[in-house]
Amino acid sequence: MFDRVKMFGIEIDRLTMDQAVAQLLDWIGEQEYHCRYVVTPNVDHIVKLQNNEAFRIVYKDAEMVVVDGKPVLWASRLLNKLLPETVPGSDLCPALFEAARARGKLRVFLLGAADGVADRAATAIQERWPWVEICGTYSPPMGFSASSPANEVALEKINAARPDVLVIGLGAPKQEIWVHAMRDQLNVKVALCVGATIDFLAGEKIRAPHWIRKIGLEWLHRALSEPRRLLLRYMHDAWVFPWLVIREWLSK
Ligand code: UDP
Repeated sequence: MFDRVKMFGIEIDRLTMDQAVAQLLDWIGEQEYHCRYVVTPNVDHIVKLQNNEAFRIVYKDAEMVVVDGKPVLWASRLLNKLLPETVPGSDLCPALFEAARARGKLRVFLLGAADGVADRAATAIQERWPWVEICGTYSPPMGFSASSPANEVALEKINAARPDVLVIGLGAPKQEIWVHAMRDQLNVKVALCVGATIDFLAGEKIRAPHWIRKIGLEWLHRALSEPRRLLLRYMHDAWVFPWLVIREWLSK
């Protein structure tokens, strides 16, 4: 196991992007299909985790926990926990696809996003990383969960494809709770819970420019690009998160 730091009631791996990718490739290189899943905490996850016991359990059982957002990285530095860098899910996927070039092949299944978007992402991925084989896609109906009728369909499709990597974009905490509940039934080596990554890969949503990400304002860019869905949520998070940092700092 990696060096982990404890913050906000969860443990986070002290991993760089390169180390995370190397570890994923090691797991993918194993013979068995033992589904290990990766979660990527951002401010919204940290806020949700405070009142969501199921989400906390999912985090506790995750094989890899890497920081998605700059504000969580800054908090780690303020709290003297010193995480090395952010490893956002939307960068981790492309980095893994790129690194898989050396092994010659990577089988990937895309689960989530609106109808048709995962298929468009599949086309874009295969153009950009021809050694990545998209062995299946499935965009379940909205409201999908482990108890919905579409769950059997999802399991059948994924297990028939036996992917090295399952990219899950169902939104948080749905995607994390789903993979935690299903992991023993999945013929998958690694599952990545990565929110809107499938939308970004498809060109359905546009990520913030590099300089905005660098100064830690990607969340603001996202909130402004989907204000009806995200603005209120992010305002709430921006109010609650500093208090959580202060509480954490006082409890040191
Ligand atoms: N989504 C989905 N099924 C659902 C709800 C959401 O496939 O029932 C998809 C949605 O189409 C989008 C992604 O989940 O592709 C949302 O990702 P985002 O990171 O924006 O979610 P958040 O965690 O911020 O809500």
